[in-house]
Amino acid sequence: MAKSIKKLKALSFQQAVAYAKTRKGEDFQERYFEDKESFIAMMVSQIRMEKDLNKYFNDYYNAIVNEVNWNKYKAGAKVSDLLDEIPFMTSADMRLEQIVLDNMISAWTYGLNQTKKDLKQDHDGLNKFTTDKYYQLAKAHAKQINKTTRKFVMDILKNERSLEENKVKEENSIDSMFSRLSDRLKSDARAESITDTETISFFAGAGAVVINFFSKFQKIKKRWLAVSDKRTCERCRNAASKGWVGKDFLYNVQFGLVKTNPAHGRCRCYVEYRTK
Ligand SMILES: [Zn+2]
Repeated sequence: MAKSIKKLKALSFQQAVAYAKTRKGEDFQERYFEDKESFIAMMVSQIRMEKDLNKYFNDYYNAIVNEVNWNKYKAGAKVSDLLDEIPFMTSADMRLEQIVLDNMISAWTYGLNQTKKDLKQDHDGLNKFTTDKYYQLAKAHAKQINKTTRKFVMDILKNERSLEENKVKEENSIDSMFSRLSDRLKSDARAESITDTETISFFAGAGAVVINFFSKFQKIKKRWLAVSDKRTCERCRNAASKGWVGKDFLYNVQFGLVKTNPAHGRCRCYVEYRTK
């Protein structure tokens, strides 16, 4: 990481925006925040989560390398059974969940506040309503990251198993598997991509919860905003072309039929709301 959290906090808003652009090559963060404090808090939260995820993936990788029973693996044991035998794995779900819970609070909070600002509304009952939803969503997100991570590992192991069965590169099989696991699990890009997507999911998820709450009292419309440049995908462009629609409108994007952003990993879109 190029700059520490402490240094980032000391930056001016313009510097922080410039830094975010350099680091991500993206401009989506700017769209979400009207004020410097929110923007920097979001960046700090993202960077902290990336660091925690990197450490988590590193430990996860080490557990696999050091603790998988490779003799059983060579004898044909099922990959999922071997992973479940590792003591670290049994606590991994909880640990990952904790990383997500700890670090997504600010994304959630700023999502709530930004949506309240968009709607120009507030309500005493809103905080309790959103807190309950927040924990449900946070746990679902954590589970999803965990599931994807395990799938990564299993796909690599299964692939290596088939190489071994076919007597291809037999002597190098486990070595090459280690290096592929290492490349995929321990890369900064992976932590960064997960963090970006999860942060935006939480931000947008908080917005959607606020909208559900206020829609009990009034009609709410939304529109999908997409950055328009060479990298904008066809589906995001199409979602943006719908203009103002009802709050329950489903957009057909890479993640499936969704009510709000993100449409895919590293999506730069934003869904804006208004009353009536
Ligand atoms: Zn998008």
